[in-house]
Amino acid sequence: MGLTGIQIFKMLPKTNCGECGVPTCLAFAMNLASGKAELDACPYVSDEAKEHLAEASAPPIRLVAIGAGTRAFKIGGETVMFRHEKTFFNPTGLGAMIPSGIDSGELDKKLKVWNAFQFERVGVNLRPELVALKDVNGDASAFAAAAKKIAEESEFGLVLMSESLDALKAAVDVSVFKKPLLYAATAENVEEMGNFAKEIGLPLVVKADNVEGLTALTDKLTGMGLKDLVLDSGSREPKQVFEDQVTMRRAPLKAGNRSLGFPTITFPCEMASNLDVETMLASMLIAKYAGIVVLSDFTGESLFPLLVERLNIFTDPQRPMTVTEGIYEIGAPDENSPVLITTNFSLTYFIVSGEIEGSRIPSWLLIMDTEGLSVMTAWAAGKFVGDAVGMFVKKSGITDKIAHRKIIIPGYSASISGDMEEELPDWEVLIGPRDASLIPKFLKDMAS
Ligand code: SF4
Repeated sequence: MGLTGIQIFKMLPKTNCGECGVPTCLAFAMNLASGKAELDACPYVSDEAKEHLAEASAPPIRLVAIGAGTRAFKIGGETVMFRHEKTFFNPTGLGAMIPSGIDSGELDKKLKVWNAFQFERVGVNLRPELVALKDVNGDASAFAAAAKKIAEESEFGLVLMSESLDALKAAVDVSVFKKPLLYAATAENVEEMGNFAKEIGLPLVVKADNVEGLTALTDKLTGMGLKDLVLDSGSREPKQVFEDQVTMRRAPLKAGNRSLGFPTITFPCEMASNLDVETMLASMLIAKYAGIVVLSDFTGESLFPLLVERLNIFTDPQRPMTVTEGIYEIGAPDENSPVLITTNFSLTYFIVSGEIEGSRIPSWLLIMDTEGLSVMTAWAAGKFVGDAVGMFVKKSGITDKIAHRKIIIPGYSASISGDMEEELPDWEVLIGPRDASLIPKFLKDMAS
């Protein structure tokens, strides 16, 4: 259990200086206890108090780092049940299962295909993070050989799944640089698995037959000094898994139950007999509250929608999604290609760039930073007005890429054309269509 506001207050300086953003130390203590403030906000807390307060100020669900290198990620650290209350912070890791008995050539093939699944969206690289290697025949050397290959020849992080401690040790020996996640400590092996994870400093999955069973195991492991735990409630039945995920989110957040204050791992690959159903279950689990989701395979048609769902759920709902300001090439534009401009609200970008692409007329698209506002809103807020847009066009560098001086502005911002022409006296400002779906016709008419 975390500390109460009064217990925290006793350890604060009690000067009521207000530098933490609230007028009194008591108010700060109350905010800290309810997770609404960070301890760092008070510059005057003593080191001794800091140590004591670390538990109270830590997120109710522990943040656990998984993997190393380009696909390393963090899970947990969440502070709310519902995204609209604040935001969800650490996206669900996506993994696929590989049995240790896999033929080496087949493994090569899979890794090559899976490595290539990377998608660019709103300036973000979307890709899966993990391979879960499952020991299927107790052959420690085959398990270690597959772990070595995955660790050395792919960017993926690893979940090492075996009931045999010897097999896990052999696999860890050759893949420890990837900081694999060990699976799993159970009622039968908790002591030895806990000791090994502690000694090697790797995160450990705790698996029980149900949520209640997890509490005794995590208490034992934290008592042994382990901190980086991941929970598997054991069920593979969709309704029960859903309920378990909610329980494991609610218990630490609402009841201060630190025994369940860890991120979770789920296995749609063991909950369904085909990838379509797995994908549907994974979609539910990304929203409700899995730290890691393991599928039986990665395919484009399954992975892409899950990655986009994850991207959308793990963004701050109070901040519009944006794309980076700059010049975007659509097709292979040259010096005579048309130039269009719009705002950096990601939905605007996707719609406009999609329509330009659909026109098959290579074009330059200028994206101006309007703090994620759409054209009309940005105009109303004074962020997409003639002189500002004109100045942006000048400094964007587009003039180095084109031989003409024509620019197409969104139809809804026609009123800024006069001010733009004043700012850009050598340019002709063309009013584009109001509706993005008319952009292809507009571009084709211009080209003819
Ligand atoms: Fe108290 Fe620290 Fe806040 Fe000052 S900054 S009011 S000392 S908690």
